[in-house]
Amino acid sequence: MFVVVGGGVTGLFSALYLRAEGADVLVFDPAPGAWSRAAAGVLEPTKFEINRINVRGYPIRYLKMWLKGKARVTRLDWRWILAYLKVYGRDYSPEVWSYVKELAFFSLSTYRRMAEAKNDFEYREEPLYEIVEDVEEEAKALKADPLSPRFEIGEVGGKAAIVYLDAAVISTDLAAERLYREAEEAGVKFIKRRVVSVSENGVLAEGGHTVKADGVIVAGGWWARELGVPIAPMKGYGFRVKTAARLGRTIADFVSGVFLVPYRDWVKITGRFDFDPTDDYTPSSAVLDAARAWIRDFSVVDMAVGYRPCSPDGLPVIEKRGYVVIATGGCRLGWTLGPGIAKAAVDLALGRTPSTPLTTMRFKE
Ligand SMILES: Cc1cc2nc3c(=O)[nH]c(=O)nc-3n(C[C@H](O)[C@H](O)[C@H](O)COP(=O)(O)OP(=O)(O)OC[C@H]3O[C@@H](n4cnc5c(N)ncnc54)[C@H](O)[C@@H]3O)c2cc1C
Repeated sequence: MFVVVGGGVTGLFSALYLRAEGADVLVFDPAPGAWSRAAAGVLEPTKFEINRINVRGYPIRYLKMWLKGKARVTRLDWRWILAYLKVYGRDYSPEVWSYVKELAFFSLSTYRRMAEAKNDFEYREEPLYEIVEDVEEEAKALKADPLSPRFEIGEVGGKAAIVYLDAAVISTDLAAERLYREAEEAGVKFIKRRVVSVSENGVLAEGGHTVKADGVIVAGGWWARELGVPIAPMKGYGFRVKTAARLGRTIADFVSGVFLVPYRDWVKITGRFDFDPTDDYTPSSAVLDAARAWIRDFSVVDMAVGYRPCSPDGLPVIEKRGYVVIATGGCRLGWTLGPGIAKAAVDLALGRTPSTPLTTMRFKE
């Protein structure tokens, strides 16, 4: 029997892949899908730039956001900061980047296949329009992106924009529901409790529930921190809103700090990138304020809070430690890479591959 800790996008795909191999699977999560569905749902398979928080100059950018009240830090995590200093300015080998690209393409083909079977999660392939401070500078950064994105310079809402051509979108609200339903139908068991520890003695959940397993996949997002993995909880908010306005395009407005994705019955508005594990959601209203530059009138249907699990270099962590596999670190690209991360984790758990290029060794070297 396999235990999966966390039923977000990574955990749900892990559970489905394990089940497809005939394994008994038990997922622990107090609210499966609740964090992952905060996401905008933009898939960016050939663009890693958004996750490269360790490039030179990024701390200054973040500091400027903080000074303008567009980001906040509520807790200093020294383990994460020390690991950040180790990888600051570091680039990786072409092998690492082609591995990441494989994760992204595996993921994209998974969503495509799911949509071909039944497109009940609004999968569509279409360009993403990005508003940035300096289009020329951004174009330069994109040319340096290790995943070689295709883009052109265009216009949206009367503003110059980077048009990223390899994008797709999915409704994460609908996709999370579908994955949960499919997992249940496939026979995956869910226990809606938080896990307290994972050790040689088994998986201990709140309320004293201990389970012995043949293998464990830890896909609890930033909870992997409890196992010594440097992962930050980069909190953000996702709103579904009703509006009469016709947006027509998927927009990533980095100047105002907001993404807007039109779906059939709502527009998804997301934003904030706060180093903040607390239950205080005060900055969420700033996301709606920023969205008003694009759509003036709307009514909120609901809000989801998510914690992007970000390692210090923005790359995932997929690592085997004895009978435990850690699968996290999607950061801002967790849906873009989720199925790929899950597949790699399951291959490790089943002993099909010995290791990955994305272990925590890189924070120690
Ligand atoms: C506002 C916002 C917008 C985003 N937009 C995009 C986007 O457009 N495109 C994209 O690709 N990505 C996007 N992301 C990132 C993406 O959502 C995350 O990277 C992704 O959700 C990570 O998935 P995960 O399953 O690894 O972890 P999570 O989504 O963090 O899920 C972890 C799960 O584990 C559970 N859990 C935690 N601790 C425990 C425990 N102790 N015991 C049991 N269960 C536990 C939680 O309840 C949760 O369900 C966005 C994120 C946010 C917040």
